[in-house]
Amino acid sequence: MSAEQSDDAASSAADGGPAVRRLVDWDADRLRELAADHGTPLYVTDLDRVRENCARISAAFPDADRRYAVKAHTGRAVLETVRDAGLDAECASAGEVRRALDAGFDGSRLHYTAVNPPAPDLNAVVEWWEENPEMTITVGARDTLDRLADRGFDGRVCVRVNPGVGAGHHEKVRTGAAPKFGVPYDRAAEVVADARDRFEVVGVHAHAGSGIHGEEDLDAHADLVARMGELARGVGELEYVDVGGGFGVPYREDDEPLDLDSVADATRGALGDVDARLAVEPGRYVVADAGVLLSEVNTVKPTPETTVAGVDAGMTDLLRPAMYDAYHAIRNLDVGGGPPDGSRETGPVTVAGPICETGDTFCDGRHLPVPERGDLLAVGNAGAYGYEMAMTYNSRPRPAEVSVDGDVLRARETIRDVTRPERGGER
Ligand SMILES: *Cc1c(COP(=O)(O)O)cnc(C)c1O
Repeated sequence: MSAEQSDDAASSAADGGPAVRRLVDWDADRLRELAADHGTPLYVTDLDRVRENCARISAAFPDADRRYAVKAHTGRAVLETVRDAGLDAECASAGEVRRALDAGFDGSRLHYTAVNPPAPDLNAVVEWWEENPEMTITVGARDTLDRLADRGFDGRVCVRVNPGVGAGHHEKVRTGAAPKFGVPYDRAAEVVADARDRFEVVGVHAHAGSGIHGEEDLDAHADLVARMGELARGVGELEYVDVGGGFGVPYREDDEPLDLDSVADATRGALGDVDARLAVEPGRYVVADAGVLLSEVNTVKPTPETTVAGVDAGMTDLLRPAMYDAYHAIRNLDVGGGPPDGSRETGPVTVAGPICETGDTFCDGRHLPVPERGDLLAVGNAGAYGYEMAMTYNSRPRPAEVSVDGDVLRARETIRDVTRPERGGER
């Protein structure tokens, strides 16, 4: 990141908007129009909010390399927005590198993090590297170094380290201590030295996991950063120390937003004096509150414990509740404030999708206005790891995604799209 870009980013800090954008802040009329025009289930993405989130990151980390972890949301419009906002792209697969190249990130802004990379991924990325030699590849195992060398790669390498510290809201998103990721901390200096014989080693990297939020997470983050600072001082001569992403977002209505400045202060303090730039790579933070998922109620079933609201979106559209027990705010867009304005009674409501899985619920017995058939529900903070994790289980086509302005960003899939790859499926 050039000094000029940093200045630009800092001067646009004023465009960073509020620290959090809640589900209640979305314009219900506009969302209802979009659902009427495009059908449900429907992802709605606000690119202005993506821009604001980038601006706040740039303001909090003006002197750091700032990279967007593309896997949180790979949509072309989001990538172009992030590119224009000055963040680089951190990619987890050849497919993501391809998307980032297509969205106009040039090689110097591309970072490919190779986790047990399949051969076709390495083949493709090395081929693209030949045209974009400024690209950096982050490796977490000696085998990956050897496999890159076998393919004639001798470019920029960053060594991913397992710092033995993890953070995150669920064990499935804690990566910092999982042996899957990175070379063991105690062997890192040796791997860096070995890599230097064959490549240009530009950085060391660690990612603690997702969801730094409370003090405890921040302490774990600071521990990780401190260990990385120590490593960097030991190995010398690096461009950057990348401490990963994992900046949390307030999924619950009463969660406080993350104080990015205090994360930045804690990070710099823990890193200590190193002769290298700091690098951060948030994914979730950039896109989470820039997206909602709209879904229509098609079934209302009173039961003794709860009113079950059957909706047309399910775990195939938004997997996080089923996979991580994640909480997402839910708002009925056809109901005003509820009593005392008399619009609707509230009570325990279970919002359940159409998939034949017990886990296919967005909430269980949550206190909400009792829905009626035809109501439109919005699920908040769906911008990160929402559409990206959508799948076709139960032969369900993936949903459409539109911008707040009504541009179709991703067309709704059809059942034919789902069956096409299958032998005899294309008819
Ligand atoms: C997923 C990931 C990130 C981003 O994590 P968030 O929680 O979305 O910020 C950053 N770096 C790496 C290597 C990742 O795998």
